[in-house]
Amino acid sequence: MENHCHTIIIGGGIGGSAAALRAAQNGMSAFWFTGSKHTRKRSRSQWVMNLDNMVGFHEDVIKNQVLKTLKKGKEESAADLISQTHYHINNRLIIQNTIDRISEYYPNITIIHEEVLSLKKIERKFEIESENSNISAESIILATGVMDKQPVFTKLNKKGMKETSPKWIYPFANREHVLYCIRCEGHLTKDHHIAIIGYDNTCAEISMMIHERYGNDVTILTNGVETEISDERFKLLKHYGIRINNKKIIDTVSDGVRELKGFELDDNTIVHVRFALVSLGLHRVYNDIAIMAGAELLDDDQPQHKKHIRVSNKGETTVKNLFVVGDAAKRVDEPIMKQVYTAQEYAVRAVDTIDSRRRKKSRLEILNNTN
Ligand SMILES: Cc1cc2nc3c(=O)[nH]c(=O)nc-3n(C[C@H](O)[C@H](O)[C@H](O)COP(=O)(O)OP(=O)(O)OC[C@H]3O[C@@H](n4cnc5c(N)ncnc54)[C@H](O)[C@@H]3O)c2cc1C
Repeated sequence: MENHCHTIIIGGGIGGSAAALRAAQNGMSAFWFTGSKHTRKRSRSQWVMNLDNMVGFHEDVIKNQVLKTLKKGKEESAADLISQTHYHINNRLIIQNTIDRISEYYPNITIIHEEVLSLKKIERKFEIESENSNISAESIILATGVMDKQPVFTKLNKKGMKETSPKWIYPFANREHVLYCIRCEGHLTKDHHIAIIGYDNTCAEISMMIHERYGNDVTILTNGVETEISDERFKLLKHYGIRINNKKIIDTVSDGVRELKGFELDDNTIVHVRFALVSLGLHRVYNDIAIMAGAELLDDDQPQHKKHIRVSNKGETTVKNLFVVGDAAKRVDEPIMKQVYTAQEYAVRAVDTIDSRRRKKSRLEILNNTN
């Protein structure tokens, strides 16, 4: 296998998929102003029959779900799936679809399902090492993401033993009853009582934002932790009727495992909620590879494992030709960008910057060699 390439993309999530697709398709940009009926008539947009340069916008995302269900012999489930008015498209489906498309149509991209273990910059080149490969390149795109801190509580496991774990809420997180992202999932909670699990100013801000946007009934569950909320925010919380409960969570209340109905607390009361939103901050930022290459981090008040990687408006770190896109990246001049579309946007900016530098260099070489 050729062990040198133009760029190495690290991370198989949204940012990585978007960067890989962009690299595979070799860079095309589109602006989309939808306009009026009049402008539409004269526009080219009505002739755009197939949008396929963004991860996730692809007919196979749904087709493959139906085929998979049919292959398992579940015709009824497949029929159900087809008759749904809402098709849920999640990150995993988008990423698998991107891997399938690249594997089938773009032999210039080699997909290796391994973890990158180290990154070194030697003169102008980067060298990476994974379990079975050593590859070098002139540029790197890192999209290694972050992980949220989870609420932990103690309850009896199947063997009747007490177990302290974050796993008790995972079934609800998988069904979007326990949420993590107000920007992406806040709207689902409209008209429902929601618990915000957290204890600090960010948690207070999120609670207020939910209430201000959707008018819901909100309860903060600190899960036994003392609050660290400013006096001003306390006043506002009180004004909005947002309650704070400092008791420890000891169990979830549910309809089987399917639907969250609330939380049981250690004074044996039950807080009945339809949704919970976790606001405990980050468990960690996967910044180790960027650190190995000497990239600068932000968030001085945080321990190293929670610091985001500093990037420019092109997604470039303080190390030339090392780019970071997606949740692990942060700009000094903009709010944090933890969304699917920002990961995609920065992936495109990074790939296009690399492509433009590469082409510029090759033009210079042509001119230098031409009399
Ligand atoms: C519950 C939840 C719901 C959300 N809902 C929405 C939503 O509705 N809309 C929205 O816009 N955003 C949503 N988001 C945010 C969105 O999912 C993220 O912004 C996006 O996934 C970030 O992409 P990323 O590439 O930075 O990281 P990720 O998608 O997390 O991908 C990181 C990847 O890096 C890989 N990786 C890590 N280390 C290495 C290594 N050393 N070598 C190789 N690979 C490595 C991981 O395996 C993973 O594949 C949601 C987030 C959460 C947690």
